[in-house]
Amino acid sequence: MILFREPDLVLDDTTVSPVSRAQNRVGICTACDGYLLSLGYYRHAGRWMVAARCSACSRALLMVYGDDWSWIEDLPLVVDEVNRHEPAITSLRVSEVPQERLEVVFTPAEIRDMIAFQEGRPYVRQNLYRARAKLERFERLFGVRIEL
Ligand SMILES: [Zn+2]
Repeated sequence: MILFREPDLVLDDTTVSPVSRAQNRVGICTACDGYLLSLGYYRHAGRWMVAARCSACSRALLMVYGDDWSWIEDLPLVVDEVNRHEPAITSLRVSEVPQERLEVVFTPAEIRDMIAFQEGRPYVRQNLYRARAKLERFERLFGVRIEL
């Protein structure tokens, strides 16, 4: 049984944290034709997984994809309501954001210079401009606002 315990996925005894908590329409419910809304995007054992829930009948499922995002299978998903709460936008310093999330949106040079800027060290101005232009996308994707 696969459990969704917001924001994590619990597979057997392994807890997998989301790479993204973006809420997107990711498909149509086969039970009622309502639309499926993503609860979280996960990367585990060389696969991508998208936890989703029907906006109409609340049926949850886990969509499993290969490394190249080719669809493999849909699995039943049980939502653990105990810890359920609405995702909130949190505000973090660059150095507090996990590196692997930063790398989804920013280049290594941009990450280096964002951190250098926040720590008052020399940085390449152009990299900081480019990074600033991507902040909104990062916030949309991860629900995290980077203070810069
Ligand atoms: Zn449905």
